[in-house]
Amino acid sequence: MTKRIYNFNPGPSTLPLPVLEEMQAELLDYKGTGMSILETSHRSPEFAEILAETKALIRELAGLSEDYHILFMGGGASMQFATIPLNFLKDGKSADYVNTGVWSKKAIKEAKIIGNVNLAGSSDDKNFTYLPQSLNLSPDACYVHMTSNNTIFGTQWHRFPDTGNVPLICDMSSDIFSRTLPFDMFQMIYAGAQKNLGPAGVTLVIMHKDLAARAKEGLNAMLSYATYIEKDSLFNTPPAYGIYMVMLVLRWIKKQGGLTAVEKVNDQKQKTLYGAIDNSGGYFKGTTEVESRSWMNVTMRMRDEDLEKKFIAEAKAAGLVGLKGHRSVGGIRASMYNAMTLAGIERLVAFMDDFKKSNP
Ligand SMILES: *Cc1c(COP(=O)(O)O)cnc(C)c1O
Repeated sequence: MTKRIYNFNPGPSTLPLPVLEEMQAELLDYKGTGMSILETSHRSPEFAEILAETKALIRELAGLSEDYHILFMGGGASMQFATIPLNFLKDGKSADYVNTGVWSKKAIKEAKIIGNVNLAGSSDDKNFTYLPQSLNLSPDACYVHMTSNNTIFGTQWHRFPDTGNVPLICDMSSDIFSRTLPFDMFQMIYAGAQKNLGPAGVTLVIMHKDLAARAKEGLNAMLSYATYIEKDSLFNTPPAYGIYMVMLVLRWIKKQGGLTAVEKVNDQKQKTLYGAIDNSGGYFKGTTEVESRSWMNVTMRMRDEDLEKKFIAEAKAAGLVGLKGHRSVGGIRASMYNAMTLAGIERLVAFMDDFKKSNP
């Protein structure tokens, strides 16, 4: 048997084992074609089927109507930080941004290059350990931009504000399809795939046609959402193998019972790990406000950095890797996206318990 460890890396991150096995089985000969999807034209009937099924699965899992375009782009979520204001932030108007961490901040920086930004809320004052509860939204903003899960700081929005007629755009890179949500309250959702959906290199963009209709014209082709919409993401060579992997991940989600089932497992995982932190008598300390805790990225600290280093090293030796916190928070971070099993979390909790006993 191949050796597999528990991978708590924040992204790229662990993928479902059945998906990896299926890729492996189909790598050399995809459905009797005698070649790999890696070697197949993006204009082939095989790839057309993959693209259509991937889009259909997204629509089905998220419960989205045909009013939404489903697009696949390159450049990661980071490119969306630029393409969103390029397309939607109009001259003389402004966009509302909520600053809840490193990724929001980067999105804001990119938007300011293009136009006016209104900071509608921020948790910068307490190093992003909470989520701002009242937002200062402007009724005539071009859009509101939020980050649903703050991968580095370990916070996650559990409810979203009603933005009325102003389109709500959400970076869901690190929690997309990890729970049920009223997805149709968003005019645009985007996510780099490498956390919850598949490999790096493909970015999912879900966009309501009403928002698409507001886009500026005359942009360079690759920076214009209209190009991807008109050409069904096939203007140039798309990240085809990545899209195929996303399809396999979505099939796997559907097989679990869809987002309701996935959410249930994620809830068990978060209760197990936060429970262990809260019951450790202060040995492990969560870094965020309890109401803002992320179900995807669990951040914690111990009494000193040497002990944290020892914890991370010994965890790695025990087959629990990727637990080092981001440098802006320090400490420990366990990323537990959809593909991390409850068994993996139980192993981590058992390890925490043992470590506490041997290092009182
Ligand atoms: C990882 C991450 C990004 C950056 O994604 P890239 O695909 O590397 O550009 C953006 N936003 C969030 C919330 C993330 O977790």
